[in-house]
Amino acid sequence: MEALVQEKWVVGINYTLTVDDDVLDSTNPDGSDPLEYIHGIGQLIPGLERELSGMKVGDSRQVTVLPEDGYGEFDPELIVWLPQEDFPKEIPLQAGTQLQMEDEEGTVRVASIIDVDDERVQVDMNHPLAGQELHFEVSIASARPATEEELDHGHVHGAHSH
Ligand code: ZN
Repeated sequence: MEALVQEKWVVGINYTLTVDDDVLDSTNPDGSDPLEYIHGIGQLIPGLERELSGMKVGDSRQVTVLPEDGYGEFDPELIVWLPQEDFPKEIPLQAGTQLQMEDEEGTVRVASIIDVDDERVQVDMNHPLAGQELHFEVSIASARPATEEELDHGHVHGAHSH
């Protein structure tokens, strides 16, 4: 069977993520440490995963992902003031501090502190890439069927995990 990117396969990709001409993230340029994920279970942002479907090992592609298929639109309602006592002592309460917070639905979000006053902390719970158009240069390094155990656990078992 030809190794195509398809549901429930473990896929290795090399990629470079560019936003506004700045490279924000990439795998090793020499291809020595691709990102492995299980295709079709939502481990990648939807706009990227969809474009990878059907690609072959060795294929490469440029993919542009709009906010609605990426990290969402920027939502001003996700900027909130919270009482200082809500924050664990070890978190430095100053602008620029990044932390993880649970929203009302229990989803863990990356948040950053943007302002602090005497009693409160202003936090932006938008994903740092919310509202951004993402440009990926991506190539397929490997593809194999996931094992039952990997599908069960919802992650890849390889050199880098348990
Ligand atoms: Zn596992």
